[in-house]
Amino acid sequence: MKVPFLDLKLQYDSIKDEAQAALEAVLDSCAFAGGPFAGKFEEDFAEYCECAEGVGVGTGTTSLWMALLALGVGPGDEVITTPNTFIATAEAISFCGAKPVFVDVDSETYNMDPRLLEAAITPRTKAIIPVHLYGQVCDMDPITEIARSKELSVVEDACQAHGGQYKGKRAGSIGDAGCFSFYPGKNLGAYGEAGAIVTNDGPLAVRLRMFRDHGQESKGVHSIIGWNSRMDGFQGAILAVKLKHLPAWTEARRRHAGTYRELLSDLDEITLPAEADYAHHVYHIFAIRAKNRDDLIAALKEKDIHCGVHYPRPIHLQGAYEDLGYGVGSFPIAEAQAMESVSLPMFPELTEAQIETVCNEIRRYLGHGAN
Ligand SMILES: *Cc1c(COP(=O)(O)O)cnc(C)c1O
Repeated sequence: MKVPFLDLKLQYDSIKDEAQAALEAVLDSCAFAGGPFAGKFEEDFAEYCECAEGVGVGTGTTSLWMALLALGVGPGDEVITTPNTFIATAEAISFCGAKPVFVDVDSETYNMDPRLLEAAITPRTKAIIPVHLYGQVCDMDPITEIARSKELSVVEDACQAHGGQYKGKRAGSIGDAGCFSFYPGKNLGAYGEAGAIVTNDGPLAVRLRMFRDHGQESKGVHSIIGWNSRMDGFQGAILAVKLKHLPAWTEARRRHAGTYRELLSDLDEITLPAEADYAHHVYHIFAIRAKNRDDLIAALKEKDIHCGVHYPRPIHLQGAYEDLGYGVGSFPIAEAQAMESVSLPMFPELTEAQIETVCNEIRRYLGHGAN
C-alpha cells in the first residue's frame, strides 16, 4: 500500500466546491493584492489565535523578518533561537542585519531549552525566537520570564504550530508577536505562499502593516522604509475557507499520532515524540528517532512508504552560517536529533490502514512481529 508523506490532493478534493467558490469570488471582485479577502482572513485568524490583531504577509519567512523589524531589531543586535529549525528562522534574523545566536534544545521536546537561555544573553541581545517545532509549543513561561527580566522581545515561530496550545493559550498569542506560515504543506496551507503575524500589541500591528506595504502610513505617505509583502487575495480567500476545517484536521492529526503511539510504543529501538504536559501538540510532523535512520527510511521507501527528515543538518553546520563560528559539537542534542530523526507520514486524510502499514513495516524492519 502506498503511503505518501503528505497528500495535498485528497484535502483539496474534500473541499473542492468551497475552494472553487472562494477563488471565483476573488476573480469576480479582482481583489488580488491585500484587499477584503485577505482582510477577512486576518480577522478570522487573529480570533482563532485569541489575539487582537492579525497581519497577513507574503510568506512565513517574511512574517518573522517583519516581526523582528517592527520590534526594532537591526544591525549589531543578536537574536537567540535554536539550530534545529527550518533555515528561515535564522534568515529572518540575518535579513534584519542582526546575528543569530543559537542555544541547544531539550532532549525530550527538541524545543528551546530555557535553562540555556541566560548564558546566551549578551548586552547586544534584542529578542528571542522560540520555535514551536513539529507543532509542539515551547515551554513559554520560563522563556517569557527571562525575556521580561532582560527587556527582550519574544517572537514565536509558530510556523508549524497553528492551533497549538501552551497551558491553554494559543500558539502565537504568548510572545510579543506570533509568526505563521501558510506554505501549502503546513497544518493550515494556502494554495501558494502566504504568512501572517498575530499580536495583542496594537502599535506593533500598525508598524507591521506599514512594513508590509512600503512603509505607507496613509495613501502616498511613506514614513518608514518598508517592503512589498501583502497577502494575496486568493490566498486569503482559500485560507478563510480552510480555517473552518482546521480544528477537525488537527483532531485527525492527533488521532493519527495516538495510533502511531499505540502500534509502536513497545519498540525499544525507536523513540516516540514526547508530548509535554503543558502542550497541546498539533503534530505538523510526527518525528520518531531511530539509529541507522537512513536505512530505515530506505527500507520503508522500498515498500512505497515515504518519510521525511526535519532537518538533516542543523543551521549552525550549514555553509550559509559558517561565519558564525560554530562547529560540530556546539549543540549536541540538536546534532543527535539531526542524525536520528525520521518524520513518518502525517496528514489529516491518512487512513488507519495506512498507519498500520507504516507501523507493521517498521516492526518488520526492526525484527518484530506485526501488532
Ligand atoms: C515553514 C517554516 C518557516 C517559513 O515559512 P515560509 O512560509 O515557507 O516562508 C519558518 N519557520 C519554520 C519553523 C517553518 O517550518
